[in-house]
Amino acid sequence: MTMCLSSPAAFPASHAQAVAARTVLSFTFDDGDADQMAAARVLHRYGMHGTFYIITGAVGAPQYMTLSDLHTLAAEGDEIAGHTVSHLELPHVTAAEARRQVCDGRNTLMTWGFHPTSFAYPGGVYSPATEAIVRECGFNNARVVIGLRSPGCPACTVAETVPPRDPYAIRVPGQVDGSWTLATLQDIVTTAESRGGGWLPLVFHHICAAKSCSSLSVRLSLVNSFAKWLAQRRDVGTVVRTVGQVAGGPVRPMISAPAPPRHGVINGSLEVVGNSGAVDPTVEAPSHPVPATQCWMRADYGQNTSTWQRIRGGHDGRWAMRLTMTSHRTGDAKLIQQFDTGQCSIPVVSGQSYNLATWYTSTVTTQFAIYYRTLAGRWRYWTSSPFYPAVARWSDATWTTPPVPAGASGLSFGLALSRTGSLTTDNYSILATRPSLIRGILDIALLTLLVLGGAVAGTRALRRRRRRTPAPDAASA
Ligand SMILES: [Zn+2]
Repeated sequence: MTMCLSSPAAFPASHAQAVAARTVLSFTFDDGDADQMAAARVLHRYGMHGTFYIITGAVGAPQYMTLSDLHTLAAEGDEIAGHTVSHLELPHVTAAEARRQVCDGRNTLMTWGFHPTSFAYPGGVYSPATEAIVRECGFNNARVVIGLRSPGCPACTVAETVPPRDPYAIRVPGQVDGSWTLATLQDIVTTAESRGGGWLPLVFHHICAAKSCSSLSVRLSLVNSFAKWLAQRRDVGTVVRTVGQVAGGPVRPMISAPAPPRHGVINGSLEVVGNSGAVDPTVEAPSHPVPATQCWMRADYGQNTSTWQRIRGGHDGRWAMRLTMTSHRTGDAKLIQQFDTGQCSIPVVSGQSYNLATWYTSTVTTQFAIYYRTLAGRWRYWTSSPFYPAVARWSDATWTTPPVPAGASGLSFGLALSRTGSLTTDNYSILATRPSLIRGILDIALLTLLVLGGAVAGTRALRRRRRRTPAPDAASA
């Protein structure tokens, strides 16, 4: 049987073989953007495979890969790797949140049938503490976004070592962006080849067609011409491997992270300014609401323009937040709790209803918008309250939600503006509803009936058994 040189079988997932090659290049793709599927198909054409770092909470969301896309990649030989649940900068969240972000993300990938061993830090930021969490959650390696020679760092080391100097901080030649040309990529490879080889993991984000390329996007035609050129460099010993193939190591079992403790709205009176770790995946840079209010994030959608202001004279404490919408065609603007796994978002119980409350003044009507988190960490719009009227003086807005949907374990909510005007809010809170008196009486009645029914049935069964019980010597036959 002849084996095509470009088939994946010719390049088994062997650590030893990867090490034997003088220069190894890895195509790594961050965030699981749907447009990366086109790049994967190009790589497959040349017998190459990529490492795809997946934000589990984004899988299936608009512009992101679907679960079916991930299975397609894995079936082709691409590596499915971890990139947390919600894409937060790990050093800027609590240790418990970081552990859930890393472990839960990996466990979700495993539940979906993948074997993740590689990880990439959102925003490329890490610390000794986050490296330890990534290791403890079962990953064998982690990739950063800087460290090697690139247009942004001409004096940096030309290649990562195999095995890497620090397996939980694998260095790369910056992030490939729209300014890189085929010559830039070729230069990185040929320089490494001429200086003893080593490992070159390249970081890609969005893959774009000729038009509509944003700053961190790379044209598909560039991926194609680079892969075509690389395929010819097998002759000089330069090969393409996934990160998992180069770093090696077994697939370790799932490690659970403790669930978040129950809490209400954190920083509900909007007094504390701070970073909650938000990173915008499209630019892989921090995206804080301006001004940043700890545990809160801007959640705008649709076509509208709005600004946020931190103003004195809150209903509770010193500060409140004012939203001013200057133009509106569709959608809304609002401040809601940071989408995470429970550091800021509110842990809730399926089937339970909650009383939401806040104080506000507004020049137009406003309403609560409520989101919930699924098991995989994806945030979905759930529901909205009725509208509250425009009011010039502080007034309270309260609403009881329907029972939380099955499978939802977190909530995030806030008052939203969906027309031009201004809205000031302060002093948000949430409380689980208490079971009503009538419901309680009905429950007790039902329980009594069940117990009585059970007792009657039990007595009848006992009588029947007594009538049927044979003599002891017959039973032992
Ligand atoms: Zn990312």
